[in-house]
Amino acid sequence: MSDDLRIYPHREREVSATTRDLSAELNPEQLAAATHGDGPLLIIAGAGTGKTRTLVYRVAHLIDRGVAPEHILLLTFTRRAAAEMLGRAERIAGSATSKVHGGTFHGTGHRLLRQFGKHAGLAEQFSIMDQGDAVDLMGIARASLGVGKKDKRFPKKETLHWLYSTHVNTGKPIEDILHEGAPRFLDNTQDIVRVFAEYVSRKQERTLLDYDDLLLCWALMLEHSPDLASKIAAKYDHVLVDEYQDTNELQSRILHGMCRSHKNITVVGDDAQSIYSFRGATQRNILDFPKHFPGTTMVTLEQNYRSTQPILDLTNSVISRSPDRYTKNLWTDRSGGERPWLVTVKDEHEQTRFVVDRILELHEEGIPLGEIAVLFRAGYMSADLEIELVKRNIPFEKWGGLKFLEAAHVKDVIAFLRVIDNPRDEVSWYRVLMLMPGVGDTTARAIMNTMAERSWDPDALTHWTAPPRARDAHKALSQLLRRLRGLARADAPAPEHNVATEIDVIRQLYDNLLRDKYDRPEPRLADLDQLRVIASGFPSRNAFLSTIALEPPQSTQDLAEGSSDEDDDAVVLSTAHSAKGKEWDVTFVIWAVDGWFPMARATEDPDELEEERRLMYVAMTRARNHLAVTYPINVYSTRRGADYSIDQMSRFLHHDARALMQRVVVESPDDVVRPDPAAVDKPPVDLMALLRGRFRSGEPGESTT
Ligand code: ATP
Ligand code: MG
Repeated sequence: MSDDLRIYPHREREVSATTRDLSAELNPEQLAAATHGDGPLLIIAGAGTGKTRTLVYRVAHLIDRGVAPEHILLLTFTRRAAAEMLGRAERIAGSATSKVHGGTFHGTGHRLLRQFGKHAGLAEQFSIMDQGDAVDLMGIARASLGVGKKDKRFPKKETLHWLYSTHVNTGKPIEDILHEGAPRFLDNTQDIVRVFAEYVSRKQERTLLDYDDLLLCWALMLEHSPDLASKIAAKYDHVLVDEYQDTNELQSRILHGMCRSHKNITVVGDDAQSIYSFRGATQRNILDFPKHFPGTTMVTLEQNYRSTQPILDLTNSVISRSPDRYTKNLWTDRSGGERPWLVTVKDEHEQTRFVVDRILELHEEGIPLGEIAVLFRAGYMSADLEIELVKRNIPFEKWGGLKFLEAAHVKDVIAFLRVIDNPRDEVSWYRVLMLMPGVGDTTARAIMNTMAERSWDPDALTHWTAPPRARDAHKALSQLLRRLRGLARADAPAPEHNVATEIDVIRQLYDNLLRDKYDRPEPRLADLDQLRVIASGFPSRNAFLSTIALEPPQSTQDLAEGSSDEDDDAVVLSTAHSAKGKEWDVTFVIWAVDGWFPMARATEDPDELEEERRLMYVAMTRARNHLAVTYPINVYSTRRGADYSIDQMSRFLHHDARALMQRVVVESPDDVVRPDPAAVDKPPVDLMALLRGRFRSGEPGESTT
């Protein structure tokens, strides 16, 4: 008998086109779009009209038509969205769908750069910096030029990074961006440009790419080498893009390059939902599409399939105040249903109380927790709610806001992995060095200079002579790095365990640093356990680092093996931005207070205010059957910065909009008759007061009694 492993092949899942009647699943306009032949196609339509659904059917139709699935590229806003859409397409068109390339622009750029970058002078083993690292490197570049030292008005590293990124993504000259966004720095333009030049050359010396480079290099390959451009473009015969209203100029350039020869491009979007202009997205992309792609077939959709009529009436009314809107008012045949609730609550606690009580009530009526979402303007606005949900044992997931990988201790461990992966990664070196006892900013920079002089030779660190206070730390770190490099060699333990093993080794040093730094290190240590589990699922350190830099998971559950999204029934708490494209049976929009939603800083700029309005529209249009908006009357101004104190209802709920809502007030526990505190018998002895009085004058101490 032989030991040969027998491989049982999957059977191709054939779904016969003739058994499917697309016209039963799509309306005539959707059907026309899904079965459109070749050439540019634009679907511009409001929320919930089936844009995403049409795109799914179009992918299925193309496969049916005989287009090779691996020659179809589906670009979406998150990796999760692409996976969901392709999952649905697979149910229609069969298993061939799994060969379709789906993902974000950044993810696709990354893949193409790994494949073609070496023909364009890119180092083969580049690493990707996340946003935070890019900001830090900008800081390093700024410091190395010594600009802004005397002149305190020079932009900070965050501002520099924003400026740089906006410039790359929009193609606008730096002076124009400064003029609009930060005119006080106009005088510094020359020095700013020098910092950018330094930033770029530091990235190159250290073989680092930032997020923007993933798009920029992709565009440049398409634009500067006809030979490379035709090779890259030839990979795909059809390109489809969801949420096109949130793409920027650079992404539009990329699409041009990708579709230069065949023009088989389908984009869908809604200008009334454009919410990323702060990242350089421009509504012009969608409005000018027919100009950029002559011969465009345009499809508009006006029937909404998501929400009940009373919800649509409200959302139509909210967005009707938006000037220059292209998409029209929506209608639905989903009549019936209750009017959206406008719930006035006393304060944050009452808001939390209401939301949780109502969630439980709806859940008891049979609505799964996963069909309920609570949306808010910014990540921190759900803090009180999160605490209450934990207390009451209600499972929830949080989207947007602080992410697992942004936690300092997780980033610390990743920095160790990064310096092993790329010894020139200055940003990670800085982070690692600053962790060590006795090493401050000056010392860290001195060490990095020594290493740079030795061309980042992995052993360079050992050649640095440590001052006495840093000697132990230096020794420990040198030993740790030597061990890690040993693990990475070919004769090391089984390669599939390398990253996890490396994390174990790092933690032998790092856990103690963590224990010294925090009084309660346990939850942080648990995060690191989780990181190890996640890392062990990756084939190599480089694959792990690239993935997490590129697509930061929203939560720990996100990365855990066999992502448990489907079987976990959990309420979703999400920022309005992260809720884009999704839908739930029940949606709460909390903090409908002026200064919170819209955010205070947006109220001064008409364009920003319009973007906030569209964001409110996005939030409200997520609801299928129940929508409740809550408005706390008393807001603690400390949370919001000192200068804003009027607690008025969100201006987006104007008079006409409110008329379409059901007013609700919460029965306040204060209405319940409570015993008069004065009537409660005073205890004969007040022990607490006595204890306090012991160390204070003016309060009775124990000796006075
Ligand atoms: P958004 O602007 O929020 O991204 P969208 O236009 O992409 O919305 P979809 O998410 O595709 O809209 O569709 C909204 C809901 O309506 C989904 O549940 C979808 O399955 C349903 N739907 C769309 N078209 C039809 C149809 N013709 N028949 C039945 N249901 C439909
Ligand atoms: Mg959609």
